[in-house]
Amino acid sequence: MIGLLGGTFDPIHYGHLRVALEMREALGLDEVRFLPCGEPPHRGRPGADAKTRAALTAIALAGEPGFVLDRRELTRDGPSYTYDTLRSLREEYGEQRPFCLIVGADAFAGLPSWHRAGDLLGLTHIAVARRPGETPVIAPPLAALLGDRLTENPADLSAAPAGRVIWVEVTQLAISATAIRERLRQGRSPRFLMPDAVLDAIRKQGLYGREPQRALTDP
Ligand code: ATP
Ligand code: MG
Repeated sequence: MIGLLGGTFDPIHYGHLRVALEMREALGLDEVRFLPCGEPPHRGRPGADAKTRAALTAIALAGEPGFVLDRRELTRDGPSYTYDTLRSLREEYGEQRPFCLIVGADAFAGLPSWHRAGDLLGLTHIAVARRPGETPVIAPPLAALLGDRLTENPADLSAAPAGRVIWVEVTQLAISATAIRERLRQGRSPRFLMPDAVLDAIRKQGLYGREPQRALTDP
């Protein structure tokens, strides 16, 4: 089964890496594909361009077997719809390979408003990262989408290409890219919130600070 973790990754940090690792262990994922989105149309500065976000992500994933950078959303014009990404992945991997989309509980709560929400579970399973002890609140529109798809057994996911939803308890790290950008802008250190190699690259390139931004090339 292939895990899919989409995001802005602006920049990637230990919150992302830890949720990917714990999902891989809990669900027995063969790999986790990290999918940085393309340029969001209305995003405010400071932030890094898509190519730079992907290059930093590649640095973070290097040396972790089974963590893979997937660039397919980077060059897409307009919004990166999860539906389109899943269709593209299905073209590459076929209809039978189990996929599992990894989302936070808050993102999952908004699922009914996603583009073609009703079609997503035909393309993938969804694993929702849950805080230890948290009881998920499922509002009626989400309950309608879910039907009887919820399971507590990871084996139900491996047994089919798509269609099940599972809650997975993961260690909560209160780290956000927003807070990391803010620290960098203020000249405070985000060390130990993210891999040192990513921070080194950010400093060398003068990213997220007052320095002019240059694109990184992939390592
Ligand atoms: P920003 O602050 O810019 O919104 P972010 O830190 O939330 O950035 P995203 O790129 O938006 O990072 O997140 C990508 C995915 O990773 C989302 O599904 C998000 O829920 C999840 N995620 C982000 N931070 C954490 C964290 N600390 N722990 C677990 N999951 C996280
Ligand atoms: Mg976010």
